[in-house]
Amino acid sequence: MNAPLSHSPGCGGIDLHQEHGQRAVFCGLTGIVWLHRKIQDAFFLVVGSRTCAHLIQSAAGVMIFAEPRFATAIIDERDLAGLADANEELDRVVTRLIERRPDIKLLFLVGSCPSEVIKLDLSRAAQRLSSRLNPVRVLNYSGSGIETTFTQGEDACLAALVPDLPREAEAAAPSLLVVGALADVVEDQFLRMFSAMGIADVRFLPARRANAMPAIGRNTRYLLAQPFLTDTARALEERGARRLAAPFPLGAEGTTSWLRAAAEAFGVSEEAFDRATAPGRARAETALAPHREKLGGKRVFFFPDSQLEVPLARFLARELGAELVEVGTPYLHRGHLAAEIELLPAGTRVTEGQSLDDQMDRCRAARPDLTVCGLGLANPLEAEGLSTKWSIELLFTPVQGYEQAGDLAELFVRPLRRRALLEV
Ligand code: SF4
Repeated sequence: MNAPLSHSPGCGGIDLHQEHGQRAVFCGLTGIVWLHRKIQDAFFLVVGSRTCAHLIQSAAGVMIFAEPRFATAIIDERDLAGLADANEELDRVVTRLIERRPDIKLLFLVGSCPSEVIKLDLSRAAQRLSSRLNPVRVLNYSGSGIETTFTQGEDACLAALVPDLPREAEAAAPSLLVVGALADVVEDQFLRMFSAMGIADVRFLPARRANAMPAIGRNTRYLLAQPFLTDTARALEERGARRLAAPFPLGAEGTTSWLRAAAEAFGVSEEAFDRATAPGRARAETALAPHREKLGGKRVFFFPDSQLEVPLARFLARELGAELVEVGTPYLHRGHLAAEIELLPAGTRVTEGQSLDDQMDRCRAARPDLTVCGLGLANPLEAEGLSTKWSIELLFTPVQGYEQAGDLAELFVRPLRRRALLEV
């Protein structure tokens, strides 16, 4: 039986469908893998099961022997049966951890399906432990897998940080806040570019250190660096910050438009903007040219997974000449993605939500040249002779900005090259 599918043609020029049914996604715990590298004195303690511990270890792809910055406090059968006081146990584990690790300045208690099943109140635990372990800050968020996608873990983590951010003075000059975890090298490049435009007060959320988190207030103008930060954006707006509408900084065009949104908000002249961006734009164009030959005309199919699908599809279609067969996305945030939707080729089929079997059928029937999907679908599709790209790689690799545009294109070229070699 087909899953319910609805069609709403009214969203820009795209052909929008909505699907509800079986989904194949990783849970929000996955975000810990890139977040723990970003906030260098934070620790992520998952309150979960052995399954949760395995998931993080395999997503990280490493066994960590040095002092790690994430771990799992295992909830066992006794806890699940209500035989043990999970709060006492949690307090003991956290106290021991902080005693042993004075380098930890910010501790996240990360909720999971098991902690939610036993209704462990992690927000109360975080408050209790914060006052006990002062000056170490203890915050909590949920990484649970129920009805989420794997990038929502970052959204939940950053949203948990927002109420704790320092308040900016009412009379402060406008400041720019870039929101979303970016590789340090990308952050540094953007900082240099903003500074070349004359925008001096630029802050990042998350900051690299717990005590350097940005102050915010009514004069904060923020740019989203990632398209999956719905709750974080809402929390920032509640603190008075205002979003600058823009496409996302993927590819040369996306990066230029993203930077331009800041330039316009901060009154940067066209000449200063051109001076600051032209060299990077030219380097990105040069880096993209050889990939255009390989991706031009290639038919690409996106399964809904990372929420990066719409900006990536826009990049592949407009800058590399790829043909979009279907762009699946777990959620389509109409507001945050408005500028992206406008740039998609007219008539692009966008599917919001997922009904796995139906989508697999459409993918098999279309036999695209490249399928962008989650880890769980890649192997079966490869076995059927389709080239796949794991969408999760796009979160672990620096892909934003001019200098990374060529690397981003290369990520999509690689599976085509591998398939061509296999077929020789
Ligand atoms: S949080 Fe839930 S979905 Fe994620 S690993 Fe743990 S049990 Fe599985």
